[in-house]
Amino acid sequence: MTTPEAPTPPARVNPEAWMQAVRGAWRVGGLRVTEPRLRVLQTIARYGAPFSAEQLYDDLSRDGGERPGRATVYRTLEHLHSAGWLARIHGGAGEAGYVTSLPGHVHHLVCTSCGTVIAFAGCALDELVARLAAQTDFAIEGHLLQLYGRCATCRKARSHPCAD
Ligand SMILES: [Zn+2]
Ligand SMILES: [Zn+2]
Repeated sequence: MTTPEAPTPPARVNPEAWMQAVRGAWRVGGLRVTEPRLRVLQTIARYGAPFSAEQLYDDLSRDGGERPGRATVYRTLEHLHSAGWLARIHGGAGEAGYVTSLPGHVHHLVCTSCGTVIAFAGCALDELVARLAAQTDFAIEGHLLQLYGRCATCRKARSHPCAD
């Protein structure tokens, strides 16, 4: 199986590599790469910002051709999410929704202006977790982390008032 490693240094998930990796994982896992599922993947790979299940379903119907059923769209999303190929981006940082991701321990940086998402590995929270566990007697089982701000492109656009 060719699961790509988490991007080092932090990077956008490459759409082509993502699609290839998901198809590879489906084949290994015995999930058939049917035409409707493939169309779901292709549509997801084109998004440059977080998307919702409803938006995906609508966009699939606009593409022309036979639209995959709602159940197929939602089941495929759920499957991709639970396998780590999609991550959930939370509100307060642009649109809430899904973004393409990679299985493994990664977190995301979200641009609040354009919705660009950068994945990164190595959150280095071990020390904090250990300290909090000792101070609170919690058995800490996991964490959620999402960073947000403005990406380099949006910051450049801001600093040139003549550029639209
Ligand atoms: Zn941006
Ligand atoms: Zn982490």
